[in-house]
Amino acid sequence: MGTKRVGSAGKFGVRYGMRLRRKWLEVDKKQRTLHECPVCRRKSVKRLSTGIWGCRKCGTKFAGGAYLPHTNIAKTVERVVKRVSEEENVQMREVPETSGPEA
Ligand SMILES: [Zn+2]
Repeated sequence: MGTKRVGSAGKFGVRYGMRLRRKWLEVDKKQRTLHECPVCRRKSVKRLSTGIWGCRKCGTKFAGGAYLPHTNIAKTVERVVKRVSEEENVQMREVPETSGPEA
């Protein structure tokens, strides 16, 4: 129990389906690779922490997306992740009480 190997997409749970999971895995893979520096154009940009990126060649630090420096897919995923967490909140609030004597 609880030993399913789903990688870093596991945090979204099973019910969000493969599309989001694939999207996430795609981003996850990209965030582990080096990105092009906006200043020196070398592929040396690494994520330092959430939303903070740094170039190892010229030392530039800049704020970007939480998971990728600045790309469309980052925006898409951030939107999806936000929506998912909102849905999760709604679902948690709407859990019906079924343990009463009338249930
Ligand atoms: Zn640079």
